[in-house]
Amino acid sequence: MRVTFLGTGSAMATGERFQTGILVQEDGRTLLVDCGSGVLHRLQQSGVGYETVSSVLLTHHHLDHVADLLPLMKARWLAGEEHLEIVGPQGTKGLIDGLLSVHEYMQEKLELRVREVHPGGFSVAGFDVSAYETRHSLPCLAYRFDDRFTFSGDSEAFAGLANFADESAILAHDCSFPDDVDVSNHPTPERLGTALAGTDIGRVYLTHLYPHTDGRHEEMLESIGVHYDGDVRFAEDLTTITVE
Ligand SMILES: [Zn+2]
Ligand SMILES: [Zn+2]
Repeated sequence: MRVTFLGTGSAMATGERFQTGILVQEDGRTLLVDCGSGVLHRLQQSGVGYETVSSVLLTHHHLDHVADLLPLMKARWLAGEEHLEIVGPQGTKGLIDGLLSVHEYMQEKLELRVREVHPGGFSVAGFDVSAYETRHSLPCLAYRFDDRFTFSGDSEAFAGLANFADESAILAHDCSFPDDVDVSNHPTPERLGTALAGTDIGRVYLTHLYPHTDGRHEEMLESIGVHYDGDVRFAEDLTTITVE
């Protein structure tokens, strides 16, 4: 399995990190998880291309996770592609209907299959996925791809989510802010380290990074390391990890 970070930023632009998007690929199957602003460009830069992405899995409906959905639809239509499957939590059908009611000319350009999923197991693009409800300001699902890859989506750090990710080879976890930012709905390094303590995860990648984290990576890693002694790194746009 190959996991590619297309966007490791958040709702506030850093100038370097685009908004959330992760590609999961295996044996010719491709799944895009989230589609924030900039992801369409990163798809081209990654060499994968939007023609290859016929399934999108959404964690939740905040703009920084869905902003490039319509641009993706339009690019696929212009490229002669005919289908797009969009899978996400409750409200995904309403979101897509709403987007298409604003941009009416995009209606019926693609054959859309829209599906809502819930905590538990389901299949998308040939991948068996488990979903777990996170703690965020909108309904949001974390996703796990067997014992290889887990993505937190947007979430506070808490034991339930850490247990959901336990024994994954790779975990990509929201770590939006450094410790001195007073925040709810997202973790700080201290809270993430506390939640991960005692778990057995191959490697943790920190993502969903606000500009507040610029220049503060060392202290954030140290803060996590007080509670959690595993391998923790910062995700970067266009980094690909191969997971056996
Ligand atoms: Zn969010
Ligand atoms: Zn977000």
